[in-house]
Amino acid sequence: MQKTVVILGAGPGGIAAARALRGLLPADDRIVVVDRHDEQRLGVSLLLIMRGWREPHEVAIRPSRVLNGFVEFLPAEVLGVDPAARRVETSAGPLGYDAVLLALGAELVPETIPGLAHALENGVAGHCWALPAALQLRERLHCFAGGRILVVIARLPYKCPPAPYEAALLIRDLVEERGLATSTEITVVTPEPSPLAVAGPAVGEQLTRYLASRGVSVRTGEQLVSVDPRHREVTFASGTRELFDLLVVVPPHRAATVARDAGLTEGDWVPASLRTMRTNVAGVWAIGDLAAVRVRDTLMVPKAAVFAQQQAEIAARDIARALGYDVPEPEIRAVGRCWFLAGRRSAGVIEGDFLAEPRPAVTFTEPTAEGYALMEAELATWLAQDPLTGGA
Ligand SMILES: Cc1cc2nc3c(=O)[nH]c(=O)nc-3n(C[C@H](O)[C@H](O)[C@H](O)COP(=O)(O)OP(=O)(O)OC[C@H]3O[C@@H](n4cnc5c(N)ncnc54)[C@H](O)[C@@H]3O)c2cc1C
Repeated sequence: MQKTVVILGAGPGGIAAARALRGLLPADDRIVVVDRHDEQRLGVSLLLIMRGWREPHEVAIRPSRVLNGFVEFLPAEVLGVDPAARRVETSAGPLGYDAVLLALGAELVPETIPGLAHALENGVAGHCWALPAALQLRERLHCFAGGRILVVIARLPYKCPPAPYEAALLIRDLVEERGLATSTEITVVTPEPSPLAVAGPAVGEQLTRYLASRGVSVRTGEQLVSVDPRHREVTFASGTRELFDLLVVVPPHRAATVARDAGLTEGDWVPASLRTMRTNVAGVWAIGDLAAVRVRDTLMVPKAAVFAQQQAEIAARDIARALGYDVPEPEIRAVGRCWFLAGRRSAGVIEGDFLAEPRPAVTFTEPTAEGYALMEAELATWLAQDPLTGGA
C-alpha cells in the first residue's frame, strides 16, 4: 500500500531529509514537503548580507525548484499536527501521513526579555538571525557614528554558536572601513563561561585571543535580564548595567510554534533520539534547530545546518525502517564543520566531533583569504542545486 511521509519545513534539514527519503522509499510512496516560504538561504549568507558583501537575491534557492520532480512541494502555512489522527493541518488543507518529520526550525522570541522587542523596533538594537533584521542592521551600521557596540547573546542555545563572534568581527571590519576604528568599542557578552563553551576552554582561549587581536573584547558569564531602550542600557542577572550606543543581540530562540502547540516540546525544544530522531510521540520524528538531540545529559548537539543535514539522514533511514522497508540502520554522527567569517574577506573553520569522549573534540583554524575563497566555492555549490540560481 502506498505510504505518505510529510516533511514540515524546507530548510537544510527538510531538504536533506527529502533527498535521503527519496533514495530509500519506493517511487510510488508519497513524500510531501511543506513550507510557508519558497525561498531559502544558508545561515552564513545572513552574515554576508549584514556586512554588505552579498545581496539577498544572490544567495537564495527555491525549494520548489530544488525538489521539483522527485518529491512534492506544498507552499503553505503549517497550522497544526495531530499525532493521534496522523494528520497535519495546513493553509492548503489537511494532509494525512504515515510518518511526519518536523524540520520547522527555531523561532525568535525577543518579547521574552523585557524591553528587547521595543529596542529592536525602535532601532537601538538589531540582529542578523533573520533576513529582514540583517538588512536593517546593515542600514544601522551605515549610519552609526561611532561609540559603544555590545553584541549580547541573550539565551542558550541559539543557531550557530560561532555566529555572534563572527558578527562582531564583521561589524569591526565595517566600522574600520568607515573610518570609525578609534571611536568604536565592540564587546561580545555571553552567558557562557568561555566563548563557544561547547568547544572547550582551549578553543575559547584561542578565540578570545583572536578577537582581541582584531579589536573585539569578550565578557563571559553574564545573563541578559532586560533592555532599557530609552537610556540605551542593558541589565544582567549579576546586577551589572552597561550603556551602549548600538545593541546587537542574539534574540532568545525556541522551537517553532506548531511543535509547541502540538504538545511535542519539553521546555523550549522537541526531544529527539540521537540514534533515530524519533520524538516521544509515535509517528513523529524531529531534526534540526527545533530538536533537542542530546549526546549526554549535559550536551545538546549544536544548532547548525550541518547537524540538521546529518540528522536528516538518520531520520530518513529510521522512518523507512519504521514503514517496513529493508534499509540499513542509521549511522550515528554528530560531526560538524562550519566557516568562521572575519574581516577583510577572510574565513576560518570550526570543526568538531560531538560524540568524542570524554568531551567534544573541536578545533578552530584562524581566518585567511584562502579560507574565504573556499567558503565562496562551497556556497556556489549549494546555490547550484537550484537549476536557476545555480545557473545564473
Ligand atoms: C547568522 C547565522 C549564521 C549561521 N551560519 C551557519 C554556518 O556557517 N554553518 C551551519 O551549519 N549553520 C549555520 N547557521 C545555522 C543554520 O542556519 C540553521 O541551523 C539551519 O538553518 C537549521 O535548519 P532547519 O532545517 O532545522 O531549520 P530552518 O532552516 O529554520 O528551516 C525551517 C523552515 O520551516 C519553515 N516553517 C517554520 N514554521 C512554519 C510553519 N508554521 N508553516 C510553514 N513553514 C514553516 C520556515 O519557513 C523554514 O523554511 C547559521 C545561522 C545564523 C542565524
